[in-house]
Amino acid sequence: VPTFSYARAVDVEDAVRRGSRPGVAYIAGGTDILNLLRDEAVTASSLVDLRSAAPARIAVNGAGATISAFATMREVADHPALGEQWPMLRAALLSGASAQVRNMATIGGNLMQRTRCWYFRDPGSPCNKKRPGSGCPAREGEHRWHSVFGASEHCVAVHPSDLAVALAALDGRITVRNAVAERTLGIEEIYRTPGDEPERDTTLGPGDLIVDVFVPRTALAASSSYVKVRDRASFEFALVSCAAALSIADGQVSDVRIALGGVAALPWRARAAEDYLRGRRPTAESFTACGARGTDGAQALPGNRFKMDLIPAVIMRALERAK
Ligand SMILES: Cc1cc2nc3c(=O)[nH]c(=O)nc-3n(C[C@H](O)[C@H](O)[C@H](O)COP(=O)(O)OP(=O)(O)OC[C@H]3O[C@@H](n4cnc5c(N)ncnc54)[C@H](O)[C@@H]3O)c2cc1C
Repeated sequence: VPTFSYARAVDVEDAVRRGSRPGVAYIAGGTDILNLLRDEAVTASSLVDLRSAAPARIAVNGAGATISAFATMREVADHPALGEQWPMLRAALLSGASAQVRNMATIGGNLMQRTRCWYFRDPGSPCNKKRPGSGCPAREGEHRWHSVFGASEHCVAVHPSDLAVALAALDGRITVRNAVAERTLGIEEIYRTPGDEPERDTTLGPGDLIVDVFVPRTALAASSSYVKVRDRASFEFALVSCAAALSIADGQVSDVRIALGGVAALPWRARAAEDYLRGRRPTAESFTACGARGTDGAQALPGNRFKMDLIPAVIMRALERAK
């Protein structure tokens, strides 16, 4: 049984000071990291609890919404102004996990949760993400849920956060603090494809703490939708999901964002599909042709080839709902 010391951070400064020490991991709601520690997918000699580090504030103003990383998924999903003005955010949050998990799980923890690849989570399996160089059994084994974009020979795992996919379509940004500095990153900049270093899911370093998420107020937010296809209607991760946001002017799509979930180690922007749709009329025909471009650059494995049909269908449905 893994053992670790535990400390509750009294504020953000205290959290990042403690987080800068070797072997320290943050714990927020604990809904993911405790399982990972138990199954020895991650190791930590010390946990710093974030639950008292800062108030779970959510502020909405003319520029956009600033959401504390320490707010729970439920607090954010229930926030009236957020739900009204960024309905896709609420839809993505409510499509994830269960009511019980959402009561505990935080926004920062959701964005930093680890992959659901069985080989990563199974204590007895090799996995390049948890033990670099040990191999990737998913390529030859069970990979129904795995990547069709951006994978490498070392890892085909996907990132599981629904929220990250919605934020990618809404141009969300995160503020990261550590003991030395603060910086702001676009949501897509925090994740990385596996390449030769599948053990690194994100561009964040040891001790980096997400303090808040900012969602700008843009014309895209008003016409948006989140569609998630999964094996059962709740308590299940995406096989393929799509966050679509459209801005329509003079009967034409003036701007569009299409982000896919369940298909890559990061929220995957379907840029060829977006480029196709810009400047066209928002019709069933243009949505179909746009969806077909959603698989540009995809490389399926035998067990997840069905995603090549699913991706265009999910994009089309998300665009129809967003319109
Ligand atoms: C049965 C089940 C089904 C689920 N289904 C879904 C789903 O469909 N969609 C979905 O999106 N999620 C799903 N989840 C995952 C769930 O959303 C995450 O477990 C949860 O959001 C993690 O948040 P937490 O606060 O509990 O994080 P923790 O478990 O406390 O931490 C998770 C990771 O984030 C790090 N961390 C936490 N806060 C911060 C921060 N502020 N800055 C930097 N690092 C931080 C921790 O160090 C740790 O590495 C499911 C979970 C379960 C158990």
